[in-house]
Amino acid sequence: SIISEIEFAARHTNAPLIAITGSNGKTTSTHLTHHLLQTAGARVGIGGNVGTSFARQLAAGDEFDIWTLELSSFQLDNIVSFRPRAAVVLNITPDHLDRYGYDLDRYAAAKLRIGANQTADDLLLLNARLRDRPEVANLRARIEFVDEQNFPHPDKLDLNGRAYDLRGTAIVGPHNRFNAACALRLALEMGAQPDDLQAGLRTFRPVPHRLEPVGELGGVRYVNDSKATNVDAVKYALLATPAPIVWIAGGTDKGNDYAELLPLVRQKVKALICLGVDNEKLKTAFGSLVPCHEVRSASAAVQTAQSLAVSGDTVLLSPACASFDLFRNYEDRGEQFREAVNGLT
Ligand code: ADP
Repeated sequence: SIISEIEFAARHTNAPLIAITGSNGKTTSTHLTHHLLQTAGARVGIGGNVGTSFARQLAAGDEFDIWTLELSSFQLDNIVSFRPRAAVVLNITPDHLDRYGYDLDRYAAAKLRIGANQTADDLLLLNARLRDRPEVANLRARIEFVDEQNFPHPDKLDLNGRAYDLRGTAIVGPHNRFNAACALRLALEMGAQPDDLQAGLRTFRPVPHRLEPVGELGGVRYVNDSKATNVDAVKYALLATPAPIVWIAGGTDKGNDYAELLPLVRQKVKALICLGVDNEKLKTAFGSLVPCHEVRSASAAVQTAQSLAVSGDTVLLSPACASFDLFRNYEDRGEQFREAVNGLT
């Protein structure tokens, strides 16, 4: 049989597994869940689509009470009996469609396989937008729907009868409040206490390349969101960033439809810098709304941005595309951007 590494590894541990998937927010939510459980005193491992592979860590003999696993749709494609004790599907929005015959239903079905082997003893959190997906009716897990609209307040988050204080934490923007609500719920399910969770929220540090502030010069803020490799992630970045924005985007297109971004770009973006080999699609989508500039390196992007931005603006690298045309990967793109910002005078 052909199985995924996650399926293989899961057969070699008895520790309860927390599984986290979605189109966006997986890494942030996995790190946050891990951090919250650690703060609550559990011995917790982290693996899957993040850091060292799950199987390698088990092979090395690492023992944990609980594992938090970030899972991509590809890792879920070839599971057979993988059964997480608690799991979440954060969202399903167009991404990687090139790998699923440009069929959102097939991509969604792969993600929802996360709950295929769960029973009534197991918890499955689903974004409320997934309520009507046909696969949901066949799942046997204890399903709880989490609605993104339920966390409107920037300073606090109400969950299971408790108000968590977000002031001074790294939980910034509506998408991160949703991620935090899911992480908190998963940690509560594993027995963590609310007071420990509040302490964990306070000490959580944001993961690099996700709306990461990398500098401020002449009153202009520079933000690295290199991990935003699809349209939905950029939508949340534009929502979370104050206008006016000098937006740097582009790279390898994965079947993007930019229609959803048009109102936000019209409202908040003053210039677009296209950082890619082929920028035609971006220019066609946004050329009539904002001035577009083309560059082929992170340093040229930052220099152009500096010449366009004035005090009070934010320069936001949030590409909506993969990085492979000009960079090794999204980390390389984000690091080159950060270095270019550090080099500005
Ligand atoms: P993933 O591991 O799924 O790629 P990350 O946590 O690395 O998720 O975040 C990827 C991008 O998506 C970042 O640009 C981040 O700002 C954005 N993002 C994070 N959480 C969400 C969410 N819940 N909904 C939409 N976008 C999100």
